[in-house]
Amino acid sequence: MYAPPGVKTNHNEFPIPDSQRAWVLGDPGQLSIAKKPVPVPKKAEVLIRIDAVAICATDLEIIYHGPPAMIQGGMPFNKNFTPGHEYMGRVVALGPGVDEYSIGQRVAVEIHAGCGQCKRCREGMYTSCHNYGLNYGDVDKGHRANGFTTDGGFCEYQVNNINTLVSIPDEMTDEEGTLVVTAGTAMYALTELGGLVAGESVCVTGPGPIGLMAVAVAKALGAQPVILTGTRDNRLKIGLELGADAVVNIRKTPDVVAEVKKLNGGKGVDYVVECSAATSAVNDAVRMVNRGGRVCLAAFAHEEVPVDVAHIVRNNIYVYGIRGEGKSATHRAEAFMKQKRFDATKIHTHTFPLDDLPTAIRYAKDRVEDAIKVVVKAKMNAAHKEAAE
Ligand SMILES: [Zn+2]
Ligand SMILES: [Zn+2]
Repeated sequence: MYAPPGVKTNHNEFPIPDSQRAWVLGDPGQLSIAKKPVPVPKKAEVLIRIDAVAICATDLEIIYHGPPAMIQGGMPFNKNFTPGHEYMGRVVALGPGVDEYSIGQRVAVEIHAGCGQCKRCREGMYTSCHNYGLNYGDVDKGHRANGFTTDGGFCEYQVNNINTLVSIPDEMTDEEGTLVVTAGTAMYALTELGGLVAGESVCVTGPGPIGLMAVAVAKALGAQPVILTGTRDNRLKIGLELGADAVVNIRKTPDVVAEVKKLNGGKGVDYVVECSAATSAVNDAVRMVNRGGRVCLAAFAHEEVPVDVAHIVRNNIYVYGIRGEGKSATHRAEAFMKQKRFDATKIHTHTFPLDDLPTAIRYAKDRVEDAIKVVVKAKMNAAHKEAAE
């Protein structure tokens, strides 16, 4: 039975096996299920029983291409690595000295624990840790980013640093719990842009999960108007349900910049959150903002993109990049979700058992049945899927 020295457990309520089912990445695109030992929480860590994990576009990047995952200094293939990072569950074991959380507590997780000792970690920018991926051999700085540089959530149990945990209420479903980190990324984008956006105009480009959450968070922060642009009407409709004041289908609108300005009373908007990764997106974004406006880039294109630097300089436009969900943004996002300021579950479309992960990944990748957020659950046994409402 699982009983590592110095680790607190409660086997009566939350029995823990010694080994678990875990998906492991082989060659690009190849996942197989394996048996792995249940990991042991160290100081300032807990063991989480994973109840649900959502598939993210970045998981697909990692599984098929490698970066931004970095395992032992290199590509994540054939290294017994378990991907998956947007999970939630219950704390079932406490590492030595942990009293910040208790056994049985429900939590969602942030991805990046950082190293806790570099300049950026000390500033709260732990998603930009200077020791990213340094957690092995004689360069071990203790950095963790589960599903990126350390084992992630496509399994049954994982250890997390207490600084990555976000308590969630019992009323929140498992599926909604997995979306805390998605909403947290949107919150981080708005934090970097200036945070308090009440009464200011925001355009979100690209209605993927983060874009849709950016609409919801911007609206909850009081932005007015919130405009969403994209190519698919069904997703734009969800944007309206999450609080967008107006949507623009760029396939039907030849000049998207002019249309956004028209919807904002003829002027550029104060903020753009770019979530589309389209090659034209950066130049469109810097033309959608007013002079002195701010653009946050939350998506990345695969190729280098030419940018109109002169326009940015002449108009004193600020351009920010964000990585993940820094500065405790997930806690602020979760507070909105707990207060039901928006319904994040509108972006959850499908749930599969953990054993059906390859099918779940196909749904997410090929957008089968208009899939947006696809969730897998370890305790869902029968080989079936549930379509969300
Ligand atoms: Zn993600
Ligand atoms: Zn660091």
